[in-house]
Amino acid sequence: CSKITFHVMCVLKGSKLVSYCVGCGQQILDRFILRVFPDLEWHAQCLKCAECQQSLDESCTCFIRDGKTFCKDHHRRLWTSKCAKCHKAFISKEYVMQTRVNIYHVQCFRCEGCNRRLLPGDEYVLRDGQLLCTDHHELF
Ligand SMILES: [Zn+2]
Ligand SMILES: [Zn+2]
Ligand SMILES: [Zn+2]
Ligand SMILES: [Zn+2]
Repeated sequence: CSKITFHVMCVLKGSKLVSYCVGCGQQILDRFILRVFPDLEWHAQCLKCAECQQSLDESCTCFIRDGKTFCKDHHRRLWTSKCAKCHKAFISKEYVMQTRVNIYHVQCFRCEGCNRRLLPGDEYVLRDGQLLCTDHHELF
């Protein structure tokens, strides 16, 4: 699964081709379409970052991964970061836990005191790079 990075091009849709938008699946009838090399095409309003919904246009570099498009910042944050616990890369964005400072694998997002998995919504304390649940942060 290599990373695909392409520049977005705004092109005049050729008259011979029927184009379908990768984003919404509908036929593109607009005069201009956004194309990401070699042949992925979007309505101008459909090419967005899957994470922040920011529209991607000609001025952007578009990152495609897992069939989703990302802006530069989110691609870097989600795909080139390493887990703060095990220092391994992430395979899929679906299995990522984010704090304000770090990103973890879901299975690595545990209290250092009791090894309990912390779930979204659980309270935790981050101290010296260690995650601690609220029962244990006073022990350390
Ligand atoms: Zn569309
Ligand atoms: Zn984004
Ligand atoms: Zn990890
Ligand atoms: Zn704990």
